Amino acid sequence: MSNTVPDGSLIPLVSLEDTGERLPSSCITRETDLSRWLALNRLEKTSCLKLLDQLLLDTFGIATETPGISNEVTTVDPSHAWKICCDAISSSIPSLRPVVEKTFTETSTCLRPRNSTISQSFTYDRGFHRVPFVYVDYSYSSKSLISLAHEFGHALQITASNDSDVYARMPPISRECCAFVAEHCLIDYARHSAPVLFSGLVAAWAKDNLYYLVDNAETLKRAFNKDTLSYHYSWNYPLARLWSHWLWNERHDNLADIFHTNGTSSEDIWGLKNIASSLDSGPSTLYSQTVPRDD
Ligand SMILES: [Zn+2]
Repeated sequence: MSNTVPDGSLIPLVSLEDTGERLPSSCITRETDLSRWLALNRLEKTSCLKLLDQLLLDTFGIATETPGISNEVTTVDPSHAWKICCDAISSSIPSLRPVVEKTFTETSTCLRPRNSTISQSFTYDRGFHRVPFVYVDYSYSSKSLISLAHEFGHALQITASNDSDVYARMPPISRECCAFVAEHCLIDYARHSAPVLFSGLVAAWAKDNLYYLVDNAETLKRAFNKDTLSYHYSWNYPLARLWSHWLWNERHDNLADIFHTNGTSSEDIWGLKNIASSLDSGPSTLYSQTVPRDD
């Protein structure tokens, strides 16, 4: 998740209202949360629906379970885990190393709160030229490690944006895609450099796919079927998760770019149209790798 709002919870509508143009009141037609969400993320309704239908049919072949492997207890302490996330992203996306290391050293973190009253992880964007704040109630599990990588990805995207001349908040689907790419980096790092962590991370990641690619796709599909429904932050997850998987497998050399795009993401940059159009010409399993393998 990102900003001040835990994943899956409601975001004040004001966060959707700073997207630019307003229609004069005299010619306002009915504007729904869904239409504003599509505009904010620069998405087109037809291709979104196409992708949602395929997600609900077979998740594009992306694994949602790993039989026989479960979320595992780890002995990695929170500060070491934070360093592992740094090394993982630097290793997968070497051109980002300076900003990754800056994120590692400068981000304010609370990774093992005393008397925790907040169970959900979050990253707080404190504004232009200010370091982000990351909160994770780290519980020595594979799932906690995945959460840490996710929030590191958010902090990295914010820090990378702060290196730009102009501050512009990245649309929510793009932000979540960055965080999901960071999860891929961690899993890939474990495969090569920390094999004891690998199977547990894959299991936790696959289980999350069920939530992000199926449960959240159903929620978003309901919004398309009944466009008077109010915005929910979980609308951002299914396409962001799908995009991250596609980018990781098909655009690996361009991964650094997504952390710097600020508010300029679009269907073309992020490949939504590419994914949707591929459905017309081939099987729904787009990827050479639908679950990370230990090879
Ligand atoms: Zn997130």
